[in-house]
Amino acid sequence: MLIVSLIKNLLLTNKSVLFTTSIFILIMFFSNLENIRMNISETNSYVQVDVGQGDMALINIGDEKIVIDTGKDPITALSKYQKFFSRRTTSKLFLTHGDEDHAGGISYLLKKNVSDVFTTTQFNDSEIGKFLQDYISESPTTKQNLVQKSEYKYISIIWPEDDCYLDNNDCSLGMIINYNKTSIITLGDLSSNIEDKIANLILAKIPKNNFKILKLSHHGSKNSSSEKFLRSISPNLCIVSAGLNNIYKHPSDQVLERLIKLEIPFITTVNSGDIKIML
Ligand SMILES: [Zn+2]
Repeated sequence: MLIVSLIKNLLLTNKSVLFTTSIFILIMFFSNLENIRMNISETNSYVQVDVGQGDMALINIGDEKIVIDTGKDPITALSKYQKFFSRRTTSKLFLTHGDEDHAGGISYLLKKNVSDVFTTTQFNDSEIGKFLQDYISESPTTKQNLVQKSEYKYISIIWPEDDCYLDNNDCSLGMIINYNKTSIITLGDLSSNIEDKIANLILAKIPKNNFKILKLSHHGSKNSSSEKFLRSISPNLCIVSAGLNNIYKHPSDQVLERLIKLEIPFITTVNSGDIKIML
């Protein structure tokens, strides 16, 4: 578990004296303080869960629990988060798209007191989408919400705009979480074609001076996170969710080189396991 907490505050208060290298040192420092985790409140956090080659995040704000994607097989990765799924509170599940590495763990998640599932309309055409519809027809306690551009409390959904007829990846839900001076931009597996197109929409949704965290699209694929996009978003930190020795070679060296060139610090689940951002 890697915890990102004070880094945000330091950057916000004294941007000019912190360079990429010192941020890395801080990250390494925190990664060694495993015992701190026990003393930090479980509330108000975003955790990028290390589900191997895939994507899954747990957001806990106040009493609200939100899950974004499920990874392909999240059972082991979630074993330490049983408290998050306590019987007392329901959680809301956002599925960016129907690929297995993002939604394959749905049957496990649906057993975890999920009240609402948020998807695109295109999701229903996928195998997993069909499974969800069958499940919901027999489970009156779970509801599916089809979403496009909309707001849900502190979450802005900025993509897709209309019924999406592009490929699966380019119809991913594009979301921004704004909470307590932090903005987390999470865009499923969108390619550069769409990212470049929505860069201004993203910026318009981010309050000025917020600490910007970009979860790189498509596990750091070279077809996402163009230099132009990275320059326009100008994130304070990037996170990458990818599996060790994955066959796609994510994250791509080209993308990591872009980040290094632009002096944008990054953390990967490959090297750090779960990444916890205190909000
Ligand atoms: Zn993916």
